[in-house]
Amino acid sequence: MNPDQVDQPFEEGDEESIRIPDVLPVLPLRDIVIYPYIIVPLSVSRDKSIKAVDQALTENRLILLLSQKQQEIEEPTPDDLYTFGTAAVIMRMLKLPDGRIRVLVQGLSRVKVKRFIQTDPWFQAEVEQVAEPMIEGLTLEMEALMRNVKSSLEKAISLGKAISPEVMVIASNLNDPGRLSDLAASNLDLKIAEGQDILEIVDPVERLHSVNNLLGKELKLLAMQQEINTQARGEIDRSQREYFLRQQLKAIQAELGEGNEAAEEIESLRRKAAEAGMPDETLEEVEKQIRKLERMHPDSAETATLRNYLDWMVELPWSNQTRDNLKLKKAQQILDEDHYGLDKVKERIIEYLAVRKLKKKMKGPILCFVGPPGVGKTSLGRSIARALGRKFVRLSLGGVRDEAEIRGHRRTYVGALPGRIIQGIHSAGSGNPVFMLDEVDKVGADYRGDPSSALLEVLDPEQNFAFRDHYLSVPYDLSNVMFITTANVLDTIQPAFLDRMEVIHLPGYMEEEKLEIARRHLIPKQLKAHGLTPRRVNITDGSILETVRGYTREAGLRNLERELAAILRKVARQVAEGKKSSVRVTSGSVRKYLGHKRILKEELLEKDQVGVATGLAWTAAGGDIMFIETTLMPGKGQLILTGQLGDVMKESAQAARSYIRSRAKDFKIPPKTFTENDIHIHVPEGAIPKDGPSAGITLATSLVSALSGRAVHRSLAMTGEITLRGNVLPVGGIKEKVLAARRAKITDVVVPAAIRNEVKEIPRKLLKELNFTFVNTMDEVLDKVLVPEKKPARGHGGRRPRQNANGRPFRRSPGNDDIAATPAFLPAGSNDGGPAGLLRLDVNPHIAVFTV
Ligand code: ADP
Repeated sequence: MNPDQVDQPFEEGDEESIRIPDVLPVLPLRDIVIYPYIIVPLSVSRDKSIKAVDQALTENRLILLLSQKQQEIEEPTPDDLYTFGTAAVIMRMLKLPDGRIRVLVQGLSRVKVKRFIQTDPWFQAEVEQVAEPMIEGLTLEMEALMRNVKSSLEKAISLGKAISPEVMVIASNLNDPGRLSDLAASNLDLKIAEGQDILEIVDPVERLHSVNNLLGKELKLLAMQQEINTQARGEIDRSQREYFLRQQLKAIQAELGEGNEAAEEIESLRRKAAEAGMPDETLEEVEKQIRKLERMHPDSAETATLRNYLDWMVELPWSNQTRDNLKLKKAQQILDEDHYGLDKVKERIIEYLAVRKLKKKMKGPILCFVGPPGVGKTSLGRSIARALGRKFVRLSLGGVRDEAEIRGHRRTYVGALPGRIIQGIHSAGSGNPVFMLDEVDKVGADYRGDPSSALLEVLDPEQNFAFRDHYLSVPYDLSNVMFITTANVLDTIQPAFLDRMEVIHLPGYMEEEKLEIARRHLIPKQLKAHGLTPRRVNITDGSILETVRGYTREAGLRNLERELAAILRKVARQVAEGKKSSVRVTSGSVRKYLGHKRILKEELLEKDQVGVATGLAWTAAGGDIMFIETTLMPGKGQLILTGQLGDVMKESAQAARSYIRSRAKDFKIPPKTFTENDIHIHVPEGAIPKDGPSAGITLATSLVSALSGRAVHRSLAMTGEITLRGNVLPVGGIKEKVLAARRAKITDVVVPAAIRNEVKEIPRKLLKELNFTFVNTMDEVLDKVLVPEKKPARGHGGRRPRQNANGRPFRRSPGNDDIAATPAFLPAGSNDGGPAGLLRLDVNPHIAVFTV
């Protein structure tokens, strides 16, 4: 569209007054159709066209404008031109320096080419003027049509069509349908063929109809175009608006002197977020929060909270992971370097690595190390991390009672933080550390909530790829973390956890193993920690054994390590003070460093006793021996149980009593004994709670012994559950119990026949010096453990001399000469070889579990 295409109002009657000659030079038009009365500037560059213009100017300035059928044709022939055109007058001509010319032409009248009479050096055609039919007055239809066209033109302008206001003024004043249609058509940007069609319609009314249709189509197009435009602009507008606002904000902040730091911080948060490699959804959330931070006052409390949150988010290792060392040999070497023995555990770890090597993403079982303190569970975890080339994190679950400790608090709380799992990952700085959860057996639940469900989610490979921490509020993938749990005892681990874990037992060490470990690991470690070298200090095996025996009593190595450290501290002082350049610690000199032996008493009873039986127990600290004492006193047949016994153990005692009562005759116990005496059973170390059924046969033995007056072998210990009918049922923890028996210098062990296989699995060297008796019934137990009755000495009137284990004569039961004995009553604190001389366990209060 050319804005210069305006209609020059002719004087009425002009049209007729101009006579078009029969022959006219032809100016081919490439991309335009020109209508009568329209003034258009044209740029003429083709040689033939310039000559045609020259020719017209030398004659009457009249020229024929013919549109080309195809605009790209450079040298058209007569066939390439429409034969219906417009005769025009050249109003002005301007020659440009490069040879081209510009002309201003005005259309005069429609003409038809009869024939071309010349094609060179310019086109010359013989033409015939086409006169428009005269219109006698306007019909209503014509007027309506004209109004329609005019308002459509206005609408087109309102929709963004560029039509100059002059054209609109002229259009609104036009009363001629023919001229209005030509004016409208020339301002409509029609395609050449369309424009030519309009030109060739001679009847003005018909022409106006056509133009009206074209205008309607144009309006639709314009409306659509505008809609697209507004959409696009809307988007641009929003981002521009935001940009401007941000710039303003920066300017305001700069003015307030707070801009730079805040802007830098935001910038750095954005950069870190982009680099953190977080999942798309998370990144979106973070960006949203960064935008929020940007709008907030930098010093408000809320800003600090949000900033804290964002710091956590951008610093978490979202995609940062260490590469696993999958070289099995190297891993084995590292494990061996760090730990002595523990072959089964190491084998399991190497298997884990082997599978990991073959399968990238494995939903590995969660290993659970179960054993007493100090057997190396934690250090094994550390060593696994080293072998794998992963980071190591440790979290103690002991006493964790609140779900929020695992899952964190919602951000809205003041001082909220992520849970300890996410904190651990954060401190590891890699998304795939070895994560040790200590003391799963001590996870508790109370009014503050139950952490176990959160923990289950952490440990469940089906769920932990999208672990939800309340603080983060977006899921975090824990599936690459290798979780290892530890526990002291299995019994208190919730079944739901046990289900997901593969339990590996670390039962504790024998003296020989402790010696080896001390030599190879503990001493070198402690030497280093104290700045000493093996050249300066020589710790003999004898001194190590002396320390183990005289100063520690444990399944693990913690105390031993502590005592060795104590020795080396003193050695370090000697060396530092310059008193000695090298020190040799021998078994004789241990006392000099550690003071008097702490484990003084022999654990065995000093002599066989009546009413005291030795049981084997399994405690959180490993195995242990325990004495069960029974005494009778005149009463009404009550059974008194003391020593903090749990329900199971109490019932076990009742069952034992009922069994013995039902067999009283066989044990030569007069029935009255049960009704006329109270029986008191006590298990020493009274402050320590004890429970479990495995003390059954020990309880029964102690009872029978007390009731029958027969002593129990002191060097013999037993474990096993008892039924009402005197059968002996299997119990667990046998390896720990055997270790305890050896420590206590027990020589004979009585165990249920049903655990024969478990006993076979215990390493041979552990069984050295121990005799095993496998029993099925209580009778077999009693046969073995009770000291055979001595033949009554003659000359005592057939009466046996009655003495209790303390050498005191038994009191006679009032009115009943047949009662064999009213056995020893051993007052607490008595110093006569009774249980008061027993050792205290050197572990914290714990439950001694007579294992099921
Ligand atoms: P736990 O976690 O089972 O309580 P720790 O891992 O704290 O035990 O172990 C106590 C100490 O004993 C650590 O210094 C550890 O290195 C050492 N230790 C335990 N078992 C072994 C072993 N088999 N070889 C070498 N050192 C060991």
